[in-house]
Amino acid sequence: MQSFELQDRRAAEIRIRGVVQGVGFRPAVCRMARARGLGGWVRNDASGVHLEIEGPPEALDDFLAVLPVEAPVAARIEAFEVRPVAPRGRTRFEVVASAPGPGHAAVPADRGPCDRCLAEIEDPSNRRHRHPFVNCTDCGPRYTLVEALPYDRERTTMRDFAMCAACRAEYEDPADRRFHAEPVACPACGPRLALTLGERRLTDDAALEAAIALLREGAIVAVKGVGGYTLAVDATDPEAVARLRARKRRPHKPLAVLVADVDQARRIAVVNSAHAELLRSPARPIVLLPSRGVVAPEVAPGLGEIGVFLPPSPLQHLLVRHGPPVQVATSGNEEGQPIVIGEDDPTPLAHLADAVLSHDRVIRARADDSVLRPIGGAVTPLRRARGYVPDAIELPHGLEGPVVLAVGGQIKNTVCLAAGGRAVLSAHVGDLGRPASLAAFEAAIGHLQRLTGLTPEVVACDAHPDYASTRWAWRRALPVIEVQHHHAHVVACLAEHRHSGPVVGVAFDGTGYGEDGSLWGGEFLLADVAGYERLGHLRSLQLLGGAAAVRQPWRTALAALLDAGEPLDLLPPHLPCEPLCRLHAHRLGVPAHGAGRWYDAVAALCGVRLEVTYEGQAAAELEAIARPGGTPYPFELTGNTPFEVDLRPTIRALADDRRRGVGPEIVAARFHETLAWVVREGCRRVGARTVALTGGCFQNRRLTERTAALLQEDGVRVLVHRVVPPGDGGLALGQAVVATARCAGRS
Ligand code: ZN
Ligand code: ZN
Ligand code: FE
Repeated sequence: MQSFELQDRRAAEIRIRGVVQGVGFRPAVCRMARARGLGGWVRNDASGVHLEIEGPPEALDDFLAVLPVEAPVAARIEAFEVRPVAPRGRTRFEVVASAPGPGHAAVPADRGPCDRCLAEIEDPSNRRHRHPFVNCTDCGPRYTLVEALPYDRERTTMRDFAMCAACRAEYEDPADRRFHAEPVACPACGPRLALTLGERRLTDDAALEAAIALLREGAIVAVKGVGGYTLAVDATDPEAVARLRARKRRPHKPLAVLVADVDQARRIAVVNSAHAELLRSPARPIVLLPSRGVVAPEVAPGLGEIGVFLPPSPLQHLLVRHGPPVQVATSGNEEGQPIVIGEDDPTPLAHLADAVLSHDRVIRARADDSVLRPIGGAVTPLRRARGYVPDAIELPHGLEGPVVLAVGGQIKNTVCLAAGGRAVLSAHVGDLGRPASLAAFEAAIGHLQRLTGLTPEVVACDAHPDYASTRWAWRRALPVIEVQHHHAHVVACLAEHRHSGPVVGVAFDGTGYGEDGSLWGGEFLLADVAGYERLGHLRSLQLLGGAAAVRQPWRTALAALLDAGEPLDLLPPHLPCEPLCRLHAHRLGVPAHGAGRWYDAVAALCGVRLEVTYEGQAAAELEAIARPGGTPYPFELTGNTPFEVDLRPTIRALADDRRRGVGPEIVAARFHETLAWVVREGCRRVGARTVALTGGCFQNRRLTERTAALLQEDGVRVLVHRVVPPGDGGLALGQAVVATARCAGRS
């Protein structure tokens, strides 16, 4: 029985779940309670925010009404439970110590510096003037410095910094915007900068000054950012950019550029108001935007777009505000290796950079910069990491099962933990073929487990026997569920739309292991969250010479010409075609259905790219040169289930165009249009009503927009990626969902 000794008072216990920690939720609750004369307490626990509150009934009702409305901007309330309890006569309202324990609390993602903090570091009278670690409850690092839940200073890498009296006063004052801002610091008590330049070592403001001066002189400076080191260099200095490329062994892959604000972004790229919002958003993503050609062409050779972002940290803000106004900022690593987060990492930053600007706040978890591309009036993530990780993804309704750890693919690896109808995808890990990557992969898994308090019961992986992730999965003493590569792509797309299927999934990518042991990647699958049927596929091309065929698109062009019975006159005479022709005649090449391989063939036939230095380069450059419009080339759908899309007529017509001197920009346009029509005709043939477009090829804006437009003309509902990448970075989500569905008996 409730006690009514205290007249005219009522009390309630409230539990709130969602993104409610590290976003200023407790201070907001405290302010709202005190403003209404209510007593009680609020704390974080492992499942979210927990409070007890009491006072006059009207005041309590008013509090309950405003709480969801006046919650901090960065919060996302997913569940809100209120239960009446007995009042105890409390009149003061306080934030109390957190209750630790395992649970499903959503840890917030890292947030770029807010306007108020930036104003403080530019204000000479402020005690945080030029302080590179400024933050408040609205901004600052979160995910990358949390060690365990609940999210409190003593479970972050700020634990080692004892707050000075001034910072503590802010931290403990509910009216202050730094009330319980866990990483709060100032020049007197916070982390310290250090610049290493050969034998010299500078600290604090001298380090900052020296770094700015070095950048102005065209030096490459490694800068410790939010989720790892970045390499910074003046983006308007072609010689400096070339030096960075040579050291990083990255000859062509585009580099992102950092600018101080949206006005600067507009000088180098075409930025509409939606893109400006995105650039300014707390995640501070890299956004691919049409280039104005102001930066050195070496920054993004062969491409019409440039990746632009605003400073994710106050330190980077200071560097770009006071140093060169447009700076290349690329992950601090050798190409393909995981981003370096500490001085003890195997990749020697000293070999990459002329100087290293570091500090003593430890990065607990890697998070590369996230990359988004505007496609079809919205944005598609190409890399999902800092600013978005570890935001949970709600699974299709009712889809619950055991705790699943999905370990992703081989390149662009990410991992995923799913339980209780939600999934958390890790930051980008990288290419697991590289030596240092396995340690980063295991670190990502460990961090996810710590943040969720979950212990995996089932492991999901790709069906490719040689992926490092697959081999790792089979070494666990846990049940393993293998998920076909393109099925995982389709289900990743379904999951982010909270759709269980069945749909027709069109998965176009480079290569993935097919159930018949051949390489798939031009797939039409009838798929739901548990299973699939292969409805159709692109005709295969022979990969001649194994991995060399992926690095040298001319080999695939050769295979396409031979397959179509065309003469080889379109290939430059210096190429060693003869031995490959024999391989082809004896069918010794590996059959590959990947749409990416057809892109390779066409890029080589257009003279755009005979060899590539990064994955997807041929397709990206072909897209970049394509003129608007264009009519599709002919193709045929043959066979029943699975049907085959015969692209030999395409190659014949395209070769004809080239021989007649039709320009590559027109051929490229016609080829994009052809693939869009291929998808339309394939989907018409199987009577598709809902189609999911997925796989790395749907990073291509031209292909995605044209395909979606044609399908929509047919009244088809089109699902495209908006939350996770269409490429292999999204694979782990699909694997986790398929494994969950199979465990739940949804087959
Ligand atoms: Zn702030
Ligand atoms: Zn301080
Ligand atoms: Fe793939």
